[in-house]
Amino acid sequence: MELVIRSPAVRQLVEEYRKIWALGYASALLGWDYETYMPPGAAEERGEAEAVLVSLRRSFYTSERFLSLLERAGREAETDLERGIVRVLRRDVHYYTSIPEELLQERERAVNRAKLAWRRAKKRSDFSIFAPHLERLVDIARRMAERLGYEKTPYNALLDLYEEGLTVDDVEGVFSVIVPPLRRLVRRDPPHPLEDLSYERNSMERLNREVLTRMGFDWNHMRLDESAHPFTEGIGLYDVRITTWYHGKDFRRSLLAAIHEFGHALYDAGSDPALWATPVQGGVSLGVHESQSRFWENVVARSRPFVRFLLPLLHEHLPETRKFGEDDVYAYFTLVRPSLIRVEADEVTYNLHIVLRYRIERSLIEGTLEPSEVPAAWNEEMENLLGVRPENDAEGCLQDIHWAMGSFGYFPTYTLGNVYAAQILRALERDVDVWSHVESGEFSPILSWLRERIHRWGAVYPPKSLMEKATGKPIDPSALVSYLKEKYGKG
Ligand code: MG
Repeated sequence: MELVIRSPAVRQLVEEYRKIWALGYASALLGWDYETYMPPGAAEERGEAEAVLVSLRRSFYTSERFLSLLERAGREAETDLERGIVRVLRRDVHYYTSIPEELLQERERAVNRAKLAWRRAKKRSDFSIFAPHLERLVDIARRMAERLGYEKTPYNALLDLYEEGLTVDDVEGVFSVIVPPLRRLVRRDPPHPLEDLSYERNSMERLNREVLTRMGFDWNHMRLDESAHPFTEGIGLYDVRITTWYHGKDFRRSLLAAIHEFGHALYDAGSDPALWATPVQGGVSLGVHESQSRFWENVVARSRPFVRFLLPLLHEHLPETRKFGEDDVYAYFTLVRPSLIRVEADEVTYNLHIVLRYRIERSLIEGTLEPSEVPAAWNEEMENLLGVRPENDAEGCLQDIHWAMGSFGYFPTYTLGNVYAAQILRALERDVDVWSHVESGEFSPILSWLRERIHRWGAVYPPKSLMEKATGKPIDPSALVSYLKEKYGKG
């Protein structure tokens, strides 16, 4: 399939879009800098500058000129690339024209206040500090859903913001297939000595750099830095930056976070050059993005063949690990244990943390749960699903920043990413001898497959179509169940 633009109207539209693209490019660089090297006293000034860039972007999207170009382009679009460009821009325009600027500003202010309140509430483990903010943000999200339009439930409008075309029926379908078998796979592994083993920060960084290099990290177009929470910023097609963290012990946290973000980076940097600076450059959705990061982090790196590849590098850079062999490191990479904190959860229990959040946020949006009832509902559901109960709200319903950011409908994309990663493995295994390549540290056949089937298409196709083309099914939760059963099942 050739990626070409023939229509003069689409060509003109893409030229006009270049201004929006450049503003996004600048915002992305500012966002990366904010999390890495910006002096702390610059935060407020930076916020002002970013707000201006965001409103400039909006004004381009809603200008008469842009809207009439988009309409003409819509009539002329014929190739897959042309149709993809029009589809993505229609979604953006729908967002900006349905939601009045005042509502977006109200949301922005509410989020800023809520984030501060959330930090205080979490520190003191006092949900009541956050409750009125949560109430306001739920109300704003519901009003946004009304403006955007939906079928069946307002939660569908919010899901679609993060994952084009995803509905509660899809999400229910996934959880109904995966939750019962996952609960049966939950083990209570005892503490492992590697969890407590200290490392020297600079040696850890050298290990991360060498592993990433061997895996195909492109230092000419990518960077690795450190931040409070690991993230990836795709600034342009030729400038993608990742971060990881260093805790001084439990080395897998730093290494696996770097590999997770590496997966995101490959996707951002992998669009076909024909997509450069167009609206379809980069990842198509959060779920597909997360499938890339989790594929490398969980499917590849938490495997026995990967541990065989890693072991000599590990022993070289972190000499304190030398008394631990392949079995030890593999056991350490695949520990399963119910825990209270999502970001520390293993592959088996992770999705149970997500179903809990999904049920609560959907009920909030549908008005069947009051914000004040969240802590009780949370603790109850944790006990039900994982058999553990938070002792306070800091390690319970206040642990994640998402709701303080006004993000409702975001969490399910994490589980969708896990489902997609398993689908990708099944499809990849049909074409490539995955595990012998991983063991010998030859990652390029895997990367080429991902490039060809997923990365190069950017957002040309909607997520479900892309996954159907790449793996044969739009969403197939049974792939995740069979993958986890093989890896974590008894015997
Ligand atoms: Mg991620």
